[in-house]
Amino acid sequence: MNISVIGVGYVGLATATVLAELGNDVVAADADKDKIDNLNKYKMPIFEPGLKDLVEKNSKVGRLRFTHENKEAIEHGDVIFICVGTPPKDNWETELKYVEGVAIEIAKNMKSYKVIVHKSTVPVETGDKVKKIIKDNVQGSVEFDVVSNPEFLREGTAIEDTLHPDRVVVGADSEKAIEIMKKIYNPIKAPLIVTNIKSAELIKHASNAFLATKISFINSVARICELSGADIEEVAEGMGYDKRISKHFLNAGIGYGGFCFPKDSQAFIKIAENYGYDYKLLKATNEINEEQKKHFVKKIKDTLKDVNNKKIGVLGLSFKPNTDDMRFASSIYIIQELQKENAEIKAYDPETMEKAKSIFTDVEFCKGPYETAKDSDALIILTEWNEFKEIDLKKIKSLMKNPIIIDGRNIYNPEDLRKEGFTYISIGRKKVG
Ligand code: NAD
Repeated sequence: MNISVIGVGYVGLATATVLAELGNDVVAADADKDKIDNLNKYKMPIFEPGLKDLVEKNSKVGRLRFTHENKEAIEHGDVIFICVGTPPKDNWETELKYVEGVAIEIAKNMKSYKVIVHKSTVPVETGDKVKKIIKDNVQGSVEFDVVSNPEFLREGTAIEDTLHPDRVVVGADSEKAIEIMKKIYNPIKAPLIVTNIKSAELIKHASNAFLATKISFINSVARICELSGADIEEVAEGMGYDKRISKHFLNAGIGYGGFCFPKDSQAFIKIAENYGYDYKLLKATNEINEEQKKHFVKKIKDTLKDVNNKKIGVLGLSFKPNTDDMRFASSIYIIQELQKENAEIKAYDPETMEKAKSIFTDVEFCKGPYETAKDSDALIILTEWNEFKEIDLKKIKSLMKNPIIIDGRNIYNPEDLRKEGFTYISIGRKKVG
């Protein structure tokens, strides 16, 4: 099938690449010319395991092409996936200008029947808006259908998730469009849920809101563990065996970040508000998330008494492991709060160093965990990269000024750290040392 993808970010690039891998003829367009020029040289704009090989393979056999001209993509695709960004406005409402801009371009350039699929995360009823924009701008009497096909991939496993999703959601009100979408997804062995367009749009926001709430829930329980002397890892394990709960998303930590949970949960509150519903539960989810970051900063300050002129080594900057994405990463808030009180920050992350350099000022960027630990008054763990789980703790201790580790991701066993002679503070567990 001839398919086009507009917006080649985390979602668009994974979608275009996997659709090409499944045998379609794909043209992917992005307004960012540098990104496209780099992709044409097989230089990936993001770190995503497995992506580069698949892009290269499918480009070389001619099934995947990149352009910075949306018009070229619109003319090519019988099905056009809109994957542009939907960032938050200052008041957390969803900025739809990129989606709407692309809808106008599609209307003006389409000459035959198209299925226009919005994959970007958008408020319920955006499908109707897109339909109206296209109707108002189409030249002549070209037919089209609008479909909502929300994306559930996780950064860090984007290719795997796109090839093997838990489910595919197709929101459509035209049999013709549903049949085309079924054909596209036929090679993917996952339940395909057909809904109306509004339900599909809501499934995405509801899913992210639920997951964010699960994280805030376990973080709240972690606070009770800290106060009562229980252990959050034990509590979460005991809860997770219950199939109704499941063990996923029960990791206590320093709160969720990334491009999806913070913006989508805030946007969902706004969406509800616009319908006259006060979404108290989700408001609490967000508040608890903000508190959790503050609570971690307090742990650091309490441990070091005064962070003024203290050297703090930071391991991990991305919002989660296996991605270079720093959007809404908890590390941003935590580092900036410590800097406000004159802490000296040294930091290392396996993949985000370039992006981090454009976000932070006055941070000494290091080449690895050992350089970060050298002469530090404390080491703080903000992202649970495997590399940090495997560090040589004896060597770390010998390099540090004070053997203090404050772990926002519970990656070490407290007893191991105690035996090595560290003071070890983590989330929802007893301090040791
Ligand atoms: P992104 O910022 O990485 O990519 C968006 C891309 O769209 C950018 O490359 C930008 O240059 C391009 N773009 C913007 N306007 C354009 C235009 N008019 N024409 C062509 N290209 C244009 O964003 P992302 O993380 O891929 O997210 C895209 C959408 O998918 C968002 O709605 C997001 O909420 C949703 N989503 C993201 C994830 C994720 O894990 N990142 C997961 C599921 C859903």
